[in-house]
Amino acid sequence: MSEFAELATQVMARCEMLGTLSQNPNCLDRRYLSEQHRLANQLASGWMIEAGMTTWQDAVGNIWGRYTSTVPNAPRLILGSHLDTVPNGGKYDGMLGVVAAISMVAMFDGLQRKFPFHIDIVGFCDEEGTRFGTTLLGSRALTGNWQESWRHLKDENGISLAEAMEQFGLHFDEVSSASISRTDILGYLELHIEQGPVLEQENLPVGVVSAIAGAKRFNITIEGMAGHAGTVPMSMRYDALAASAEMILAVERISQQRTGVVATVGKIDNMPNGVNVISGRTRFSLDVRSEDDTLRDEALAEIMQHLGEIGAKRNVKLSVEHI
Ligand SMILES: [Zn+2]
Repeated sequence: MSEFAELATQVMARCEMLGTLSQNPNCLDRRYLSEQHRLANQLASGWMIEAGMTTWQDAVGNIWGRYTSTVPNAPRLILGSHLDTVPNGGKYDGMLGVVAAISMVAMFDGLQRKFPFHIDIVGFCDEEGTRFGTTLLGSRALTGNWQESWRHLKDENGISLAEAMEQFGLHFDEVSSASISRTDILGYLELHIEQGPVLEQENLPVGVVSAIAGAKRFNITIEGMAGHAGTVPMSMRYDALAASAEMILAVERISQQRTGVVATVGKIDNMPNGVNVISGRTRFSLDVRSEDDTLRDEALAEIMQHLGEIGAKRNVKLSVEHI
């Protein structure tokens, strides 16, 4: 077996090991500040030490390893990904980017290869926001964007973020010490699985991310008039759900007709939501994304124009909230 094949085998085996650290026996689920988070940090830290790195856990719970440069005041190249998961997100999402980086450093260490920069590997403690409903807690602590108001965020068992940090051995008030300086960072590189079908369909082993699609999101409320399904004639109805259906299809059609834009209505609430009641009010989400802000905003303008026309034609009230 070639050296690269051995490394690849090691990466896959380590993803399997991390994949066993789950708070749910039925699927992989590893959340911020859980016992499994602690164990994952320990496992990753052990592998980092084996690869010739020095390790530390920062004040928010990210695990770090450094392959130290011999050059004085060397800048840092940061590699890594997240070690938390969404429920049943699979054993490669996040983990692959941490363990592959560790195996790469182990290879350099074996070759006694040194660099004019530190290679720092980070395993982010919270990217998904599954436990406290707020995403990217690990990386926001690094960038100094930690919010005082998060202190009282609660998980599904009513445990606050501040309490959970104490139980883990961290302190909410000390998170600012996890922030890092921008001036000595050479770059950040993350290997991540594709969360879509394109590479597989095109039979490509890897893709390079050239841009991250910026999203705009809205809550759209349609107010019509509720009424009895048996007694209100079709010509006298202001059916919010039927109007919403027409609007949702317009969103799909407009984004299909354009390139480089995706638009999604993924959530809808309907009131009163009864089998024999004409819908009086709906609320649906709209998520529009593109790598190019201009393309996105042009699509959005066309979508909003159509929604307005459909609302006017059907005599329902449309309100748009940018979130
Ligand atoms: Zn991920």
